Amino acid sequence: MTVLPPEETLQFAEDIDEVTTDTFNRSVIGTQQHQIDDQTLAAIEIRTRMRLRDGGFGILSLKDRVPFAVVSTAVKIRNDADDGDPKSKRAMDAIESAPTMLESIQQWTDDALSRLGNKHNLATLRKMSMAEMLQPVYQQYVQNARDHLDGEMLQAWAATQHAGANDVIAIAPNREESTLTDYELRYAIYQRLGLLGHLLELDRLNSPNGSCLACNKPNITAAHFSNCGHSCKEKHDRVVRLCHEMLETAGVNARVELQVPNAQRKIDLFYQDPKPDSINIKNVMADVTIIQAYSPDHLTLPDTTRLLNTASRAKTNKYRTDAANWRARVQPLSYTTFGAISKDARDWLDSVEQAAIAGAQYFPGIDRRFRVVWRENISFEIARQTAAMAQKGIEKHAYKLAGFEDSE
Ligand SMILES: [Zn+2]
Repeated sequence: MTVLPPEETLQFAEDIDEVTTDTFNRSVIGTQQHQIDDQTLAAIEIRTRMRLRDGGFGILSLKDRVPFAVVSTAVKIRNDADDGDPKSKRAMDAIESAPTMLESIQQWTDDALSRLGNKHNLATLRKMSMAEMLQPVYQQYVQNARDHLDGEMLQAWAATQHAGANDVIAIAPNREESTLTDYELRYAIYQRLGLLGHLLELDRLNSPNGSCLACNKPNITAAHFSNCGHSCKEKHDRVVRLCHEMLETAGVNARVELQVPNAQRKIDLFYQDPKPDSINIKNVMADVTIIQAYSPDHLTLPDTTRLLNTASRAKTNKYRTDAANWRARVQPLSYTTFGAISKDARDWLDSVEQAAIAGAQYFPGIDRRFRVVWRENISFEIARQTAAMAQKGIEKHAYKLAGFEDSE
């Protein structure tokens, strides 16, 4: 256990924090770092230090945690000693007979209590786990983000906080499906920072009227290339193929891109419902939508739940007539370009998992949770395709800008 005086240990922890910041900037932000102003770099650091669940990158500050690590260790020894644990009793005796150690722990405790906003005392501290003690630290980072992020950075952070939106950052790359290339990971991070302009170097590529030359959308920022009309169909189709693969794995035979006779439009996935709600509605028409996670030109912060619900409702309305003709129910599968998942898509994963169990294609208790694995797979596919299609879009844009091809 650490018994160095607080000031020395904190200095050490601060040095470590500096190293992790430098490493993150060098390997993830990359050479673009030199074009980014100090205020933006400070904002990036706030995001890196935040917990994954708060929409950060989970590289927590050691300095902020040191006092709580020391105090929670001391608290544990004291509690275990009181419970009669002989080893902890000996440790407690040793601490109590060493004045410098006692004094050091006292200082750390004072430090921890003041960081907790003096809402606690020794007695309440003894009942807290380290995670509980750290809550105010995490809250402080969230507050820092609210105070210091603005514009597109703030929009992007807000869009990161919906379920699924930070999956590709949070999930360990322990399978081929959950692995990203360096470019894909950097794209995912820049995208979530709201700083794609730096990665795609859009400043050099501004068209005379600020529009996208690949799809003609006016007034774009670099975020547009995550969902550029030039290539968003290809991204969508690849995600549909993965959903098809998932149905096949579950033992559900589905058709892709089906134009059913007399229907007004194609449907992404059409299959017989393994567990129909009613005998009159036997089929499922599932259709994928991937919407922009946030709109840089909006003044309000993105309400991801509402955006996804709106997209799902639009899908249901669009296919209502075709579905009625084919005794099908419409299954909207809405995601954002961050991989935020709609309630419809979550329910769908549950239903496909049920089908996999019923068909003995998946064994709960033996296999990894079907719906978890596939939710991850879909998140990563969205991230991969978003990065790839952004590159296609910006290349097309640059090509036209250079005058190789007349704007249409
Ligand atoms: Zn475009």
